[in-house]
Amino acid sequence: MRGAVLYGPRDVRFEERDTPKILKPSDAIIRISATCVCGSDLWPYRGIQKIEQPIPMGHEYCGIVEEVGSAVRSIKPGQFVIGSFFASDNTCPNCNHGYQSSCQHREFVGDAQAPFLRVPLADGTLVSTPDAPPEDMISSLLTVSDVMGTGWFAAAAANVKPGSTVAVVGDGAVGLLGVLSAKQMGAERIIAMSRHESRQKLAREFGATDIVTERGDEGVARIMELTRGIGVDSVLECVGTQESMMQAIQSTRRGGYVGYVGVPHGVELYGEKLFFAHVHLHGGPAPVRHYLPELIDLVWKGRVNPGRVFDLTLPLDQVAEGYRAMDERRAIKTLLRP
Ligand SMILES: [Zn+2]
Repeated sequence: MRGAVLYGPRDVRFEERDTPKILKPSDAIIRISATCVCGSDLWPYRGIQKIEQPIPMGHEYCGIVEEVGSAVRSIKPGQFVIGSFFASDNTCPNCNHGYQSSCQHREFVGDAQAPFLRVPLADGTLVSTPDAPPEDMISSLLTVSDVMGTGWFAAAAANVKPGSTVAVVGDGAVGLLGVLSAKQMGAERIIAMSRHESRQKLAREFGATDIVTERGDEGVARIMELTRGIGVDSVLECVGTQESMMQAIQSTRRGGYVGYVGVPHGVELYGEKLFFAHVHLHGGPAPVRHYLPELIDLVWKGRVNPGRVFDLTLPLDQVAEGYRAMDERRAIKTLLRP
């Protein structure tokens, strides 16, 4: 089969790779229905995160089970399934606390931009849909594999509740789905921080009530202006830079919550600033597996349509163009079909 391999900065190739096989009795092989490019794929793509050797790419996936190992019980060939970027047993203490992305036996699933994928710990990792999904639902089901699950975790970690006032830092696909998640959780006012017209439009469609175009200290000042100098109850930090993290902390009201899901690059927090900020901080790699049943159900019943974040769909063999379009911010998120 052929799949995506990153060789170095801005060098993604679609080339021959070994077709995955069952390696352990708890594995499953799935035939990919759809995969995509993640904002976090852009860190190594841009050379900000160094790679030692060519690496296969892709960690968001859904598809049909092709084959299962001898120890797999609940997952069966023919099912349409969705999994997370971390395989998890779903039985260890960390999983039981709802943190499957910190499973004691977790394994990263990182080669999904391909026609076939091996998923370890299949029973713990994969969740099947009630039936074969209609074609127009596949993009939304794909989002719950990571980007929607991550936006949802950001809102949950930021303690969004009915009536909350929320700010979302970052207008990438995760930030936009953070807006959608906050809306679903009953937030009354949702301030999206974005300076791009097409993203502002989608943020409004997903439930944003206000748009703030300023960044950094000016962004904080604008949030304070909108909240009579108090700050918001909940901030979703969906970028991962020093500026975005400080913007999130400083926009939060005393006693409020920051849910941070942007993978940090060069973020340093100072004890004294944290001490006097009086905020709750909670974040990390989203425990997507924890939310899969709930989010699949929301998509299945047509309550949410997170697949709207895909504004570019390409055949998998054009994966390099998919990366370029996102790198140059011509696309919010690229869907790839094998
Ligand atoms: Zn576990």
